[in-house]
Amino acid sequence: MTQPVIEVRNLTKVYAGEGDAEVRALDGLDLTVRQGEYVALMGASGSGKSTLMHIIGCLDRPTSGEYWLAGADTQALNEDELARIRGERIGFVFQAFNLLPRTTALENAALPLVYQGVPAAERAERAAAALERVGLGDRLGHKPNELSGGQKQRVAIARALVQDPAVLLADEPTGNLDSRSTADILNLFDELHAEGRTIMLVTHEDEVGARAERVIWMRDGRIVPREGVAVGGTA
Ligand code: ADP
Ligand code: MG
Repeated sequence: MTQPVIEVRNLTKVYAGEGDAEVRALDGLDLTVRQGEYVALMGASGSGKSTLMHIIGCLDRPTSGEYWLAGADTQALNEDELARIRGERIGFVFQAFNLLPRTTALENAALPLVYQGVPAAERAERAAAALERVGLGDRLGHKPNELSGGQKQRVAIARALVQDPAVLLADEPTGNLDSRSTADILNLFDELHAEGRTIMLVTHEDEVGARAERVIWMRDGRIVPREGVAVGGTA
């Protein structure tokens, strides 16, 4: 067994709702993901998948519970430390790509390195290598509006890989793509997994989930043994 990369214990996230109502988006959730695993997170809309991914991606914090990332207790970190660990350990891919418009593929892929203070020449070299890795070595100077949906998502994956993160997180990465681009992106994830990368993706498509080694089902802010079974459990 490899080392755990993600360890979540009794995690809750409560959002303030209208008036007195609160939403328990995560309701006491336990999860371990080990180095090199490829995991798909599935479940109905509103079951808490994105909330969990944002906490695992250090984009948000839980209301209570523990989250250990690569052995580090994220609860003990202040905002600057959390931002740094996010930059170093996490690559996040969004459904809507979230690329900067009017900015080349090279500059988009290099962006995380700007925040880390990496010198310009090294940024360009590493971003070009990441784009090469996702099959866009001939598109470095293209802007998002000059790229197809599948190519935009490849740029976003290159941006996520540029710092060689411990874990690649993707929230419905193929949700905006046609079937051919979806197949391309899934093949790329298979390759990255075969290279030893840890991947966790959210999907509501069975054929996407079937590509992962393990499917984790969520319902009402908990992990359940399989689709539609309303029993709390661990995975
Ligand atoms: P999923 O990604 O599985 O569709 P989400 O994690 O987006 O689920 O949402 C889980 C629950 O939390 C839903 O009931 C949603 O309405 C609620 N929720 C998500 N984000 C917020 C927020 N920022 N404020 C209030 N409620 C939220
Ligand atoms: Mg979601």
